[in-house]
Amino acid sequence: MKDFIIIGAGQAGLSMAYHLTQLKKDFIIVDANSETGAPWLKRWDSLKLFTPTEFNHLPGMDFPKEKGYYPDKYEVASYLKSYVEKFKIPITFNQKITGLKKEDDYFVLKSKSETFKAKNVVAATGPFHKPFTPSFHTKISKDVIQIHSEHYKNPEQLQDGDTLVVGAGDSGVQILNEISNTNRKVYFSGDTNITSIPQEILGKTLWWWFKKIGFLSVSKFSYIGKKLSKGGQPIIGTDVKSLLKKENVICVGRTLDANNTELHFEEGVFKNIKNIVWATGFKPNFEWIKGVTLNDYKYPKNYRGVSNLEGLYFLGLPWLYTRGSATLGGVKKDAKFLSNYIEKLEEKPTYSKITLKKQFV
Ligand SMILES: Cc1cc2nc3c(=O)[nH]c(=O)nc-3n(C[C@H](O)[C@H](O)[C@H](O)COP(=O)(O)OP(=O)(O)OC[C@H]3O[C@@H](n4cnc5c(N)ncnc54)[C@H](O)[C@@H]3O)c2cc1C
Repeated sequence: MKDFIIIGAGQAGLSMAYHLTQLKKDFIIVDANSETGAPWLKRWDSLKLFTPTEFNHLPGMDFPKEKGYYPDKYEVASYLKSYVEKFKIPITFNQKITGLKKEDDYFVLKSKSETFKAKNVVAATGPFHKPFTPSFHTKISKDVIQIHSEHYKNPEQLQDGDTLVVGAGDSGVQILNEISNTNRKVYFSGDTNITSIPQEILGKTLWWWFKKIGFLSVSKFSYIGKKLSKGGQPIIGTDVKSLLKKENVICVGRTLDANNTELHFEEGVFKNIKNIVWATGFKPNFEWIKGVTLNDYKYPKNYRGVSNLEGLYFLGLPWLYTRGSATLGGVKKDAKFLSNYIEKLEEKPTYSKITLKKQFV
């Protein structure tokens, strides 16, 4: 039996592994994918980070690029691989955990082929789980190619003809931008009243300003944090106003329904769409964890990663504590908090989450 099992070998799981190594714990990571960096490699080909190098450091090893540089997805995957090598992090790949429950004072984790046991578990399964697509997508003709942003790589996946991009988040506008450069009509469905912020302001990166004004350290428990964590996020780095003004980009409002080749939007009905990219986000999935309490948004209730089940922790959730919690450079603070918590609990078993419990959300 291991002291700890970390589920997920992304940046959150690796940061936790770094701290457990420092604490000399006997642990492994189990991961559903077959290699380190897989979630990044699966994202679209032209993806560049919106965070520059100096905001991408994991604990104990800096991102190996110059300050102000925006890495691509391959560079992120390669950094994560080097991180694993440097700290000799033990990872068992191809093990998707489909059941986790507590039995007496240890946890049982089940995948299709294995059963694992550990005294403690850190679930670092990422902020994005089940891709969400509106239910009426099943009514759309098979002649129309439909891809969720999770599987979008580049415009070569599309057939010739008009294309619809649905979703006004970072993924939606970046994909819209790329497809609008391929000499075709592109319909954009989503809110056009989006706030977008350039990557550099007055010669400094946006993240430099975020840090300067304290935005990255505002906790979700503070008055401002409560407002920020519930509000929409601005688009970073894409000039949305100019993009939506392009001659071949047509804004159609929200997508309401579909019937074969007919797509119904707030701004009318169109029949000529040959491809759809759904950049409509993800839903969390923690149903496979028995005994954990979920909040209204279906995320596990926790205080800074400490859950209602003793010995079960979470890391990498959006706004686990701050805006930075689900970013490369921000996750280390949360991992450090958990590591301190685990250490204190060991020194003094009465140091429990009683005081934290009041703030479980
Ligand atoms: C398009 C896009 C662009 C982004 N750009 C940036 C950026 O510029 N800068 C930045 O800092 N952040 C960025 N992020 C946010 C964030 O850094 C990434 O989402 C990052 O991948 C999250 O890391 P993670 O370790 O929490 O989860 P993931 O990287 O998703 O890793 C989770 C791991 O858990 C495994 N897993 C999941 N469920 C199970 C299971 N049941 N059993 C076993 N294994 C499981 C998965 O296989 C995966 O390897 C971006 C995100 C997206 C989607």
